[in-house]
Amino acid sequence: PPDVEQLGRATWTFLHTTAAYYPEKPTSNQRVNMLTLLRSLPVLYPCSHCASHLDTNIKENPPDVSGRVALSRWLCERHNDVNSRLGKLRFDCSIEKTDERWKNGPSD
Ligand code: FAD
Repeated sequence: PPDVEQLGRATWTFLHTTAAYYPEKPTSNQRVNMLTLLRSLPVLYPCSHCASHLDTNIKENPPDVSGRVALSRWLCERHNDVNSRLGKLRFDCSIEKTDERWKNGPSD
């Protein structure tokens, strides 16, 4: 079976980076594809208990794919839900902090 921690770090890197570079004003095609990507995770993610928690979480908190600021926050909050469940620290979900981590790097 896959290493759940390594898989998690790789997946969060992909998802947060993709959200950080998602357009401010996505086309309907970009929105549909982002929704499909997110909704496929509970079906395909190769950690079945993770996938099952995510399914419940996404049903309670539908993805906001309206633009990169809203999407970055939504994803950060979902990651925080996992962090809390695992007893990890929560992350500040402001766009400044998510961009610093996943787009721009710290400003000096
Ligand atoms: P990670 O949690 O992987 O975080 C990587 C980096 O992201 C951090 O170092 C930090 O810089 C940054 N970061 C942290 N929080 C946030 C945030 N809220 N927003 C933006 N950036 C942030 N593991 C389980 O044991 N059980 C589960 O049920 C489970 N469910 C998961 C569901 C999904 C969808 C995913 C992608 C992963 C899941 N994992 C689960 C794995 C878990 O979330 C971690 O990836 C893993 O435990 C490794 O943790 P880590 O401390 O190295 O950092």
